[in-house]
Amino acid sequence: MNTSTSKAAFTEAKEYIPGGVNSPVRAFANVGAHPLFIAKAKGSRIYDVDGNEYIDYVGSWGPMFLGHGKGCVREAVVRAAENGLSFGAPCIAETELAKRICSMVPCVDMVRMVNSGTEATMSALRLARGYTGRNIIVKFEGCYHGHSDSLLIKAGSGAATFSSASSAGVPEDFAKHTLVLPYNNEEALEAAFEKMGKEIAAVIVEPVAGNMGVVPPGDGFLQKIRSLTKQYGSVFIIDEVMTGFRLSLSGAVGRFGIDADIVTFGKIIGGGMPVGAYGGRRDIMEFVSPVGPVYQAGTLSGNPLAMAAGNAQLKYLQENVYIYEEIEKKGAYLEQKFKESAGKHGIDIKVNRVASMLSVFFTDIEVTDFQTACTSDTERFKVYFNEMLKRGIYLAPSQFESLFLSDAHTDDDLKQTTKAFDEVMEILR
Ligand SMILES: *Cc1c(COP(=O)(O)O)cnc(C)c1O
Repeated sequence: MNTSTSKAAFTEAKEYIPGGVNSPVRAFANVGAHPLFIAKAKGSRIYDVDGNEYIDYVGSWGPMFLGHGKGCVREAVVRAAENGLSFGAPCIAETELAKRICSMVPCVDMVRMVNSGTEATMSALRLARGYTGRNIIVKFEGCYHGHSDSLLIKAGSGAATFSSASSAGVPEDFAKHTLVLPYNNEEALEAAFEKMGKEIAAVIVEPVAGNMGVVPPGDGFLQKIRSLTKQYGSVFIIDEVMTGFRLSLSGAVGRFGIDADIVTFGKIIGGGMPVGAYGGRRDIMEFVSPVGPVYQAGTLSGNPLAMAAGNAQLKYLQENVYIYEEIEKKGAYLEQKFKESAGKHGIDIKVNRVASMLSVFFTDIEVTDFQTACTSDTERFKVYFNEMLKRGIYLAPSQFESLFLSDAHTDDDLKQTTKAFDEVMEILR
């Protein structure tokens, strides 16, 4: 496989862009390779600048749920572009998308559009703090909610109550307002609420974690967050930036029958354009400016092209609900074949999957939180990733990410993928 054009492009990019990329994971640093520069994508396939073709399981990290270049989405964007690229004034498509999201997610009465998932969660936290008049945020280790200061926080060592910044440039003063607890651990959550429940503004969670590899919520975990936040008057924020409209037509909220006070969105709701959103209960959302005292704004928020793409993608899903069943079957197929193949070759793996989100961990321990995710042999993952790539399978270049299926993946794609997987297990033996 010749990737010399990508390699040269990366060398030049590094001269002008920090690390040559505009988002760190794209640099392929975790898999000891150089990134591929992508020239185009169509359906389930992406093509690099050297002309190599791959079956894409990254899907722009989630948004391309219908596959690349889906006709209805592309056409909606082109049509919108003919009328202008940005107005900085209200347009009808914003209400249409907000109304659509409200109709799909029962606990969402109102929605504010932003430009990224990071903005959505950052704004949701400010809103929760403004609404409750409290400062403390609870998040869970291994969950990612974007890169705002309050959320780039990691657990302190030992039984430390408070946490520390996970990035340079985040003042420790921010860290002291964020409490990081282990995922799926109800006792730790209960203890935190007993100790400081009246100071907790919000709990934010990935309803299915996808950013430490896929880790599903344990039985009762989300319900426990719901009951404790209700009891103590804290805001429950479900971060559906990844799961929103991937896990069901009403997101994880609908799939698990949980009601949140605020839900954040991104990725799929933009159909590949830069969009985020946060929405929730009317009395909370009315705290947002200009009706309420919590300030939040955006020059390009509600951009007409982005709204057109989002509306087209969500409308297509509403009209083709069967997609969710099909994608469930595709996921189950990969899961089963991966497990069979690893079993046959005597390789210890754990496959975590919820619908179209799937991760392979190279461990013999059940992966239920960040600590157990970290038992995966990342050296093995590196070999696995590079060998799959050589066979034309483009996976996320990190152990701690999900594989994303889309509606565009065909049975042939899946067969090719499991064949490659089987060959790679043979190598890893
Ligand atoms: C991707 C992601 C974000 C951040 O979204 P960006 O658009 O990258 O800022 C936030 N939360 C979750 C759960 C995500 O998966």
